[in-house]
Amino acid sequence: MIDFRSDTVSKPTKEMLAEMFNAPVGDDVFVEDETVNKLEQKVADLFGMEAALFCPSGTMTNQIAINIHTRPGDEVICGRQAHIYCYEGGGIAKNSGASVRLIEGESGLFTAKDILNNINNPNDLHLPLTSLVCVENTSNRGGGVCYDFSEFEKMKKVCQENGLAFHIDGARIFNAMIKNNESPLQYGRLFDSISICLSKGLGCPVGSLIIGDKDFIRKARRVRKVLGGGMRQIGYLAAAGIYALDNNIKRLEIDHKRAKEIASHISQYNGIKSVIEPETNILVFIMEANINPVAYCDKLKEKGVLAMPFGPDRIRLVTHINHSDDDISKTIQILKSM
Ligand SMILES: *Cc1c(COP(=O)(O)O)cnc(C)c1O
Repeated sequence: MIDFRSDTVSKPTKEMLAEMFNAPVGDDVFVEDETVNKLEQKVADLFGMEAALFCPSGTMTNQIAINIHTRPGDEVICGRQAHIYCYEGGGIAKNSGASVRLIEGESGLFTAKDILNNINNPNDLHLPLTSLVCVENTSNRGGGVCYDFSEFEKMKKVCQENGLAFHIDGARIFNAMIKNNESPLQYGRLFDSISICLSKGLGCPVGSLIIGDKDFIRKARRVRKVLGGGMRQIGYLAAAGIYALDNNIKRLEIDHKRAKEIASHISQYNGIKSVIEPETNILVFIMEANINPVAYCDKLKEKGVLAMPFGPDRIRLVTHINHSDDDISKTIQILKSM
């Protein structure tokens, strides 16, 4: 099976596993796991921020940030397509008692002007207090598309002028950086908190980090414990993260090239109406009206390719570290045979 359902399905390489097996560990709830401490410091330094916290998932790192940046009853501005809204089980309401103000748009991206247009007047007692803006880069539901960094700078200004916290869901932030030649330091200078995932394109079996200033991370450690995310000898997992940051960022350009390679072939193939030109490692294509994406994916599976139905009219393929050049050419042939 050639698996394109997500970049989360990749398995650790031999080299990564060797690092994991050899990691020194301790009890991380006591902050005594030296490999975790090393990973957290490494990530904080990478982004030029004060501190970071290793967590089990990107859902948890986002939910921790939302919990710290808001009070119950506050409103969070985010995209209608945002992971924090669509795919975190209603956690904004459940964990933090906050409401959402959704910015419409298929791509999942929005602008500083959108923020300005959606901030509630804090002097109007009827309205929930806007306290947080969350952006997502790359945008998952948008098909891996990226922001222009200058838009973040404009957004930051609006946030500062209106006393709003600014959080980024950077589950695939390294894909955006590779695509647009950006540095983590640029992000660190702008955002109050940054969530990154190790278990997506970077190829780790598990793990995400939330990054911020010291006071924020001190609070985050408490929220993580409350959510049940205080873990013990997890240096074995942190070691995978250290390895990935040292070795697997630059190679994301290979994943991007492969997504483009598939996209360049398939628009004429049976059943496919159009292809959203991939910017990074996510390829979304729209099916002809008479094709059911679920049935199409079932058929693909019979031929040895796993893909993800991504709404009533579309399918998502995600390239990742475990694919080979051969997998890509085979997949193009299989799509052609549909
Ligand atoms: C995958 C993902 C997350 C985190 O998902 P987990 O499965 O909880 O690690 C967060 N945001 C986006 C945009 C994602 O794609």
